[in-house]
Amino acid sequence: MALRKIRLSTDDILRKKSKEVVEINDKILELLDDMADTMYNANGVGLAAPQIGVLRRVIVIDIGEGLIELINPVIIETDGEQFGEEGCLSVPGKLGDVRRPNYCKVEALNRDGEKIVVEGEGLMARALCHEIDHLEGILYIDKVEGIIEDI
Ligand code: ZN
Repeated sequence: MALRKIRLSTDDILRKKSKEVVEINDKILELLDDMADTMYNANGVGLAAPQIGVLRRVIVIDIGEGLIELINPVIIETDGEQFGEEGCLSVPGKLGDVRRPNYCKVEALNRDGEKIVVEGEGLMARALCHEIDHLEGILYIDKVEGIIEDI
């Protein structure tokens, strides 16, 4: 387990599309461990692999309800709408208001290669959408309505 350097929004790698994981090998397991360490160390609620410079479809989330590790996550259902403040470890010291679905259901693989479904409302839905956007090279700052504030 190790901390990895978090890439900032000025880094081109954050604009690239991540590739599917085809085999969950030791390297992917190490990536998951390092991503969780890096997220907790930075007091974040989520982290996507491209944020540490790895273009693989892997995300971790912990909104205070335990660690969720998702490999090849795909949004299969959304509902409703929420509008509220969002930030990103790759855009430190900033916040902006973003519109997101209020409910989000995601299918993915866990570290054992088993298909899992994760769903949530509010912050959980926001975190899932935000992190999966990273895998497409999309940052929340692209979606901010209004100004991006300094905090
Ligand atoms: Zn982010």
